Amino acid sequence: MGKKPFIVGNWKMNLTLMEGMEFAKSLRNVVCDESEIICGICPPIVFLKDICRVLEGCGIFVAAQNIHSEKTGAYTGEISASMVKEVGCTHVLLGHSERRHIFHETDSFINAKIKAALSVNLKPIFCVGETLDNREDERTEYVIRNQLKEGLHGISAGHIKELVIAYEPVWAIGTGKTALPEQANEVHSFIRSTITDGYGKDIANSVYILYGGSVKPENAKELMAQPEIDGLLVGGASIKFESFLKIIETAAKY
Ligand code: PEP
Repeated sequence: MGKKPFIVGNWKMNLTLMEGMEFAKSLRNVVCDESEIICGICPPIVFLKDICRVLEGCGIFVAAQNIHSEKTGAYTGEISASMVKEVGCTHVLLGHSERRHIFHETDSFINAKIKAALSVNLKPIFCVGETLDNREDERTEYVIRNQLKEGLHGISAGHIKELVIAYEPVWAIGTGKTALPEQANEVHSFIRSTITDGYGKDIANSVYILYGGSVKPENAKELMAQPEIDGLLVGGASIKFESFLKIIETAAKY
């Protein structure tokens, strides 16, 4: 499809500020001005400002791991889209399965967050994915179609182009089980056809669809070789610089 590979590291609630800064500096040294890939990291909220400073002016983007849907107000402990934008983030992870399942975020709340992000030009990395039960009950497509329909409700075609979609089968996140590359490709193809139905082929083809779920240096190649996989969302393997770098180097060849 002629897109640059897109690699994102989700640090979740890991690393110290010092470790994060060292990581960002190392990444800047090797990936800066790298034109073959699009690369970003999602540090914990309190590190965002410092990490954004380290990566300022270089091609690596910084994404928040979450935002609230409201602009301001009495939402103790929450942060808004404009706050993370103000410190230098360009992207935000939304709909991550840990937010859906541990923090009970609903599709309509995620939809409101996507709209809040887009309203300040923050690009959502919108995660969808089925649980093991869903897959065993052959409800994968039903669940994903629904997550896309509800999550993208009321979003214009122009804004869909700004989105990155991440397919993350819940049973593969942090479990060491990766979807077979062909299995992942099949769901990516389904996601693209769902976007085609709603917004047309050109937009669907331009949208990045990433795979996430126990991506490691050892499986990055076979995943990236799939025609519908435009990039990778990496959790556990993104908190060690060496393994993240290997994944980046592998992806850069596609
Ligand atoms: C994630 O958190 O988005 C993820 C894919 O995690 P892991 O790579 O650890 O499965």
